[in-house]
Amino acid sequence: MSFDDRRRNVRSLLFFAVALLGTVVISFVGSFAGAADRGELALGPRYTATAFDRGLPPAPDARPGPRVALTFDDGPSPQLTPYILDVLAAKRVRATFFLQGNHSADHPDIVRRVQAEGHVVANHGWEHPWFPDLTPEETEVEIARTNQVLTDLTGVRPTLFRYPFGQPSPAGDAALARLGITGGIHWKWTSNREGDFQCPGADRMVDYVVTEAADQAMLLLHDAGDVVSCSPDQLQYLPRAIDELRARGFTFGVVAPSPERSAINAGSPAAVVP
Ligand SMILES: [Zn+2]
Repeated sequence: MSFDDRRRNVRSLLFFAVALLGTVVISFVGSFAGAADRGELALGPRYTATAFDRGLPPAPDARPGPRVALTFDDGPSPQLTPYILDVLAAKRVRATFFLQGNHSADHPDIVRRVQAEGHVVANHGWEHPWFPDLTPEETEVEIARTNQVLTDLTGVRPTLFRYPFGQPSPAGDAALARLGITGGIHWKWTSNREGDFQCPGADRMVDYVVTEAADQAMLLLHDAGDVVSCSPDQLQYLPRAIDELRARGFTFGVVAPSPERSAINAGSPAAVVP
């Protein structure tokens, strides 16, 4: 091999390396730009609409019939919330998200997506404390700071609050009254089924949702917190349970404040509305 041949070989190798590097850089930038366009960071599974989903009417939930509300607590999380939002969009279901302030501040793009896709954004406190242990000042911060972050991110002021663990406190009730937020939003849980945070798996989660479903039921589900440690396969309960409830004649609504207390939801001052 002459010196010139070797130089040509080195040059073509260099050219190949540069081209390869360029391709890697371009595809990396491309995928990053794609993620940025979607406005969110997703660290978990995603859901792709099926042919059945694509055949659903655009807004099937104004029909009469028994109505349930899917409520998701403790989010948002990049592990679970994007999948849940994918499913709800594919199934044309609106839901109610009781978001934590700290998680919302960490994942603002997911909060904006929740709002943009027509779901109700509600307040679940800043970092999920046991409210009876808080001072009045801490209580006020938990509720007011969370409401401010959610308002700043969505442009809409939340009017619903669910206590962490469903555990109220007199100071919390006073702060909510002062801030004009409806608190004490509980849920229906009358079976002895395990909840999603206990990682029962997809089959038992479908059974839980279908068993608890009733007209005006607010079903307790989670998109962050303990449920992040469950197998990601458990998430498959959601499209299955939605299809099963629809097959049984249910429609899906969101939680709204109500002067009437809802007996099946532990006296919550709220109703499930289209
Ligand atoms: Zn919670």
